[in-house]
Amino acid sequence: MPTFVYMTSCDGCGHCVDICPSDIMHIDTTYRRAYNIEPNMCWECYSCVKACPQNAIDCRGYADFAPLGHSVRALREEEKGTISWKIKFRDGNEKNFVSPIRTTDWGTIQSPSDYAAPGADDYKSQELAHEPDALNIEGGLPALTPEQLKEGVV
Ligand code: SF4
Ligand code: SF4
Repeated sequence: MPTFVYMTSCDGCGHCVDICPSDIMHIDTTYRRAYNIEPNMCWECYSCVKACPQNAIDCRGYADFAPLGHSVRALREEEKGTISWKIKFRDGNEKNFVSPIRTTDWGTIQSPSDYAAPGADDYKSQELAHEPDALNIEGGLPALTPEQLKEGVV
């Protein structure tokens, strides 16, 4: 299920409009409240759900963490730097967990323009641009040796 907005909670701040990668959260010009203009184009990415300061947006959880019949609520608390998740299953069980809004300090992520331009050899590499540095892994990405592929990893 894509997002929908509880109109009585929304104050029309527009944060969901700014953050939606599909550009489908719009403000209704009559009611000054947000709504999803194209539900079948919603990725259920939760960006708007997490950005909404009024907790006014609901969305289906992904099947891998919340099976059918559940409800899921996300609460972003900027002052604590956390997002709290509450999942209620159809048998009544609840799971609550808290995750950091981000794991790196604001402003510390390098922009692509901060890295050197790729050389001719970089185009032959299987690594993506800025790997492995951007993953904070020294000495190359972990890989299986031909022996491990034959024998299996123990
Ligand atoms: Fe847009 Fe993602 Fe919100 Fe869907 S869940 S409306 S794609 S921000
Ligand atoms: Fe309404 Fe929340 Fe969107 Fe702001 S972020 S416009 S309160 S739904």
